[in-house]
Formats: sequence, structure tokens, C-alpha cells
Amino acid sequence: MSFEDLGLEPTLLKAIAEAGYSTPTPIQKAAIPEALKRRDVLGIAQTGTGKTASFTLPMIQRLGNGRARARMPRSLVLCPTRELAAQVSENFEKYGKHHKLSMALLIGGVSFGDQDLKLTRGVDVLIATPGRLLDHFERGKLLLTGIEVMVVDEADRMLDMGFIPDIERIFKLTPPTRQTLFFSATMPPEITRLTEQFLNDPVRVEVDRPATAAETITQRILRLETKDDRTKRAALRKLLEQDGVKNGIIFCNRKTTVDIVAKSLQRHGFNARPIHGDLAQAYRTETLDKFRSGELQFLVASDVAARGLDIPAVSHVFNFDVPIHSDDYVHRIGRTGRAGRQGCAFMIVTPADGRAYDAILRTTGADSIEALDLKIETPPRDENDGRSGREERPRRGARDDRRPRRGESRPAEFRDRPARERPAAPVGEAASGAPPPALHRERRPRRESAPERVVGLGDHVPGFLLR
Ligand code: AMP
Repeated sequence: MSFEDLGLEPTLLKAIAEAGYSTPTPIQKAAIPEALKRRDVLGIAQTGTGKTASFTLPMIQRLGNGRARARMPRSLVLCPTRELAAQVSENFEKYGKHHKLSMALLIGGVSFGDQDLKLTRGVDVLIATPGRLLDHFERGKLLLTGIEVMVVDEADRMLDMGFIPDIERIFKLTPPTRQTLFFSATMPPEITRLTEQFLNDPVRVEVDRPATAAETITQRILRLETKDDRTKRAALRKLLEQDGVKNGIIFCNRKTTVDIVAKSLQRHGFNARPIHGDLAQAYRTETLDKFRSGELQFLVASDVAARGLDIPAVSHVFNFDVPIHSDDYVHRIGRTGRAGRQGCAFMIVTPADGRAYDAILRTTGADSIEALDLKIETPPRDENDGRSGREERPRRGARDDRRPRRGESRPAEFRDRPARERPAAPVGEAASGAPPPALHRERRPRRESAPERVVGLGDHVPGFLLR
């Protein structure tokens, strides 16, 4: 089956050909004809399957050449993260290049003023994260009663991030006559309930994952006998220097660790930059652009920042920390070995990671992971490679970057805040390696050198003993 057989009009076929695509993916084959018939679609598919085109193409066809009214967008795409929203907008630009559709992106980190101006002029396609959309709505800048098509992308991520009440509210603000295209990689009960309430006799389209981890990804672990962070950083450097490492994403569990590892790698001459939710949007966008273009070799990332990003050719994934939840492991290693390419995933495992590592083995199967035989020396204490190990432990009350589990409330960092609450990215600094401390919302650790280790009290050493 070709794109011509799906019922798409010539201008769209031209844009698809110019994008270099000749055959529709399974989700496109199944969803596009139904969406063109204006039916609701429930797509069970994850990133990498071509799902974005499966909703953008029929939307462009339906919206035609645009006749938007002020403050009344004609269609709405809801995405869990700003990066995904930006990716969706790139798809609209790519496939809609022969149409005259106006588009606005309502995401955190972009000034309200510019977005307001676009809305006032009228938009055909509004792409938004739920928090930012509701902020605009509450300020009276937006009416959703003109929505003809609404898309919910990555609904299960929205659930993980605590966005479901917002999505419900947004659904209720749109007219019941709208067409709904709803996508989720999995269907937990909360998502099923949402689709039952808001979708009208949907066509259910389910596609397999692009390739299971075991098929295209070689998974290896490096066991260390210590959980000392300097040793872990030395181990990471060894892994990065191996043959065949073209580029890679290095995952850490905490934002503070992301910063420390990125800084340490830069000091050792690696071409690395951090990405996580506390960094200014301009810096994050610039970092991703550099990584996509190949100018940046290593991206040091937190789970939330990296989720769902479409970065085509990553040769390696490095788990600096064993993820706390085994499903994060699957997402992390899924950044490599995409689209049938071979990929390699390494993970540093310390004696402190026993339980989390066992959970991963249960998820992936013990025979899929090989142990690496590499000798790692603990670097001398005076080696200046970032910060000392103790400071990487979360301070009492410090946030970590794991996403909230179901039922937990959505932390502030996931809300799309108005730009005035965010620190702006200073242009000059954003262009240099690690971000300046001013770009962070978290407080920096005060100590620059590690206090003496107090034996026998675990991680919770009372402050007076450290003085
Ligand atoms: P998605 O699942 O929408 O994130 O898409 C994953 C990747 O597949 C993106 O880089 C798309 O540009 C690409 N893609 C989408 N449709 C096709 C197609 N029919 N043939 C080849 N690549 C495609």
C-alpha cells in the first residue's frame, strides 16, 4: 500500500515525497483513512512508529487552507512535554508546507506576549502542553468552542505526569462534535476510562513496538564494587572511550547528577552538555539542535527531559545510574537501536543498585544483558572532575527527576509556567558548555569539598556531626 492509496490529496502527497517517505508505516496505513472519514481514532502506538504523521496528515487535509478566527483555534494537539510539542509542530511544517495553515505553539518557556499575538490573529492549529493551554484559557485569551479536531498525544505520559484532570477539563471545553484522535503507547485503566468518556465510537488501531529491545540493542553492564561517584565517573569515561561510540545519551536519575556528570565530562575534554527540566527552554532547544546536527556528541539527560524525543541515530545509551523504575530502563535504551539500526546500551551497576537492577532483569530477561570485563581504578581524591560523591546524594527535601507515579500529585516542575517565572537564558552563556548556575531553579550544594564520611549512620547523617 502506498500513500496514494490512503486518500490523501496531491499537495500532501507532494510534501510526503519531498520528506523522502515512500511507504506508509502500519499506524499510518490504519489510521489515516479512518481519520479522513472524520472518525475518532484510538491509536495504541509509541514514538518511532510514525504516529505523528498519522494525525498531522489527515488534520492538514481537513483544515484545508485555513480560515481561522481570532482566539478560536480550529484544531488542538495536546502533548505532554514542550519538546514533543515542538516535534509535532515540525511535522506540521514539513507536511503542511504547500498549505496556508497558521499554527501556534503554547508551551512553557516561550513568552506569553508572542503566543497571545498569534492567537489574536487566529490559528488553524494550536499545539500545546496542557498547563500552558489552561493558563491562556484562564487569562481569557482563548476559546476552545471552535475546535474541529483534537489530538491527545502520548496520553500515558500525560497520566504519569499528572495531567489527566487537565485533559478532562480541556475535553469539556471543546465542542462534543469535535473529531478526536487519541494516542497512547499503553492503555492503563485511567486512560481507558478517558477514552470511553470522550471518544465517540473510535476505530481502535494498535501497532507493535518498532522493534523489541532485545532484537537491535546490545545491552551490557559494568559492575563496580563501590557506589562512589568519582569511580562511577571514571567508569563512564572508560565506556565513552570505547571503539564504535559515535554519539550517545547518558542518563542520570537526578538533575543534580546530570549537571555534575556533564561538567565532569567537559573537564575531561568530552563534547557533552546537560539537559533536564530545570534548564531554560532556550538552552534545552539549543542543546537538542546541536545533538541532532552532530555538533554535540554526548547528551547527559534526565528521564523526563529525554522521553519521547525523536533523535534518529544514537549509537549508544549509557546509564550512569541504574533507573529506579524498570520501565524507565526500557525507555532509556529505546533511544538507541531505532528504526532497525544496531544500538548499544551500557549501564553502571554498583552494590547499592541491587533491587533496581533485579527489577530490570525481571523486565528484560537475564540473558539479554551481558557483563563487561573492564577494570576501573578509583581516581585519586585530589582529581578535580566535578564534585565529590557525597554532594550527589539528594539533600533532605531535594527533588529528584523521577516522574511521579500514578496517584502522586504533579510537581511544580511539570507545570508549564509562565515565562516570567522562569529564568531566561542568557544568550552568551547558553552558547558555552554547561549552563551557568543562574539557569537552575534548584539551589546548589553549599559545600565544595566532601565532609568526612560518618560510618554507621547510612545516608542520614545528622548535620551537627558533619560540622
Ligand atoms: P514518530 O513515531 O511520529 O515520532 O515518527 C518517527 C520517525 O519516523 C520520524 O523521524 C518520522 O519523520 C519518521 N517517519 C514517519 N513516517 C514515515 C514513513 N512513512 N517512512 C519513513 N519514516 C517515517
